[in-house]
Amino acid sequence: MMHRMLAEYGPSGPAGGVKTWHIVREGAAVGLCGRELDMSAPERDPGLWDRTPSLNCHTCGAVFLREAPYVPGEHGEGWPAS
Ligand SMILES: [Zn+2]
Repeated sequence: MMHRMLAEYGPSGPAGGVKTWHIVREGAAVGLCGRELDMSAPERDPGLWDRTPSLNCHTCGAVFLREAPYVPGEHGEGWPAS
């Protein structure tokens, strides 16, 4: 299954920078956490998920970890970093 990282902006929109990164399934506009997202927001390769741990949606991270076994930290220790 393919995943993408999708940005969620805060109240000030793109000018305020990315508020949270979520993980969506390819072609979906709903995060793995159930949040509806704007598909026109910037996307990233999910391989970059651990680059911005302070901005990551923790619920998406937990679900993503189960769906993407190639990600290191299979048992949740040390990933996502906090
Ligand atoms: Zn999320």
